[in-house]
Amino acid sequence: LTDRIAGEGAAAWNIHYRALARQEAGEDITVLSVGDPDFDTPTPIVESAVASMRGGATHYADVQGKHSLREAIVERYRRHGVEADPERVIVMAGAQCGLYAVAQCLLDPGDEVIVPEPCYVTYEAVLRSTDATMVRIPLRSDAGFRLDAADIEAAITPRTRAIMLNSPHNPTGQLIDADTWHAIAELCRRHDLWLVSDEVYANLVFEGEHQCAAALPGLEDRSVVIDSLSKSHAMTGWRLGWVLGPRELIAHLGNLALSMLYGCPDFIQDAARDALTREIPELQAMHESYRARRDAVCAALADCPAVEVIPPAAGMFLMVDIRATGLSSQAFADRLLDEHGVSVLSGEAFGPSAAGFVRLSLTVDEARLTDACRRLARCAETARDTAGTLSTVQ
Ligand code: PMP
Ligand code: GLN
Repeated sequence: LTDRIAGEGAAAWNIHYRALARQEAGEDITVLSVGDPDFDTPTPIVESAVASMRGGATHYADVQGKHSLREAIVERYRRHGVEADPERVIVMAGAQCGLYAVAQCLLDPGDEVIVPEPCYVTYEAVLRSTDATMVRIPLRSDAGFRLDAADIEAAITPRTRAIMLNSPHNPTGQLIDADTWHAIAELCRRHDLWLVSDEVYANLVFEGEHQCAAALPGLEDRSVVIDSLSKSHAMTGWRLGWVLGPRELIAHLGNLALSMLYGCPDFIQDAARDALTREIPELQAMHESYRARRDAVCAALADCPAVEVIPPAAGMFLMVDIRATGLSSQAFADRLLDEHGVSVLSGEAFGPSAAGFVRLSLTVDEARLTDACRRLARCAETARDTAGTLSTVQ
């Protein structure tokens, strides 16, 4: 078996599967270890899929994606300041498939791709599948995990082919600010680089504004935007995403899709079009609830001396600094699950710069989240007190 397909990312979710197994066995476990919305897909979207299926949309669909869906996607980008046409869009089976396909179409062995770290756990495996090199630059926790364009510039070499960004960011919930975006766009133009932008949390912004990479000046021909309905519409299981890029790249992705995917399901594309074009009242309430949950966690952990929260500006995750406990991220996450029944992910699973942090998903209601935070605080304080006692004894 080829090493190109190996990636350590998958191991990050081992703790999540342990938590699910215990929950299934009837234990009271609060699962905060995965970014899957706890909301059902809004009923109008489900009904649209059913109607479309009943209407016979159960055959192969256009490999690039149905025109009506691509038009709806383009319209969405118009609202973000991007003037595109449907030929610049290809529909993919989720953003993950889009990321993988883009890597196959852009990268050659030995190319370097600059990725701020911590980063979403699958990036390493995606890049490794092409034999490109992932060049990590650290997001510093003492700067709130905010990206500094100077760190990107310092990492550019003659082999650099692309910069790969994710804003709003998983796992930190930070947004790249306007000045940094413009500095990065300038670097891409000056060094002839692609900007690959994963924007799956674009619709979940609490403070600040989402910047679409394709709307940056001079980047129409060198930016690739990847997005999906997974998080914005609670549709993770529908596997519906897309890529927006220059026509030549989209045509290249079309060739790949011919041999890899052969189009996404017809009726799912119809439902996706309706999800993007119809008024769906449930969405607003759903998006608002993430903000309320974020605030509930910040309030619940504000008085805990053993942890510190980095408040996210967007997305569905939140990073908690547990360094005062003296435990590693993984040891803390294990103890929190084993002794207090709450599952979170170790920050280190996302990269070494998140060592000493754990990631919480805002995917249960406020009451349950607040209760989980109490358990987390208890776990952290006990560990910190034990560490303190041990060092006094020594
Ligand atoms: N990128 C990021 C940053 C993610 O967190 C995820 C996971 N939801 C994905 C891509 C993949 O999303 P999708 O469900 O659309 O494949
Ligand atoms: N993106 C989600 C997360 O970061 C989960 C996706 C998955 O389980 N592959 O937790």
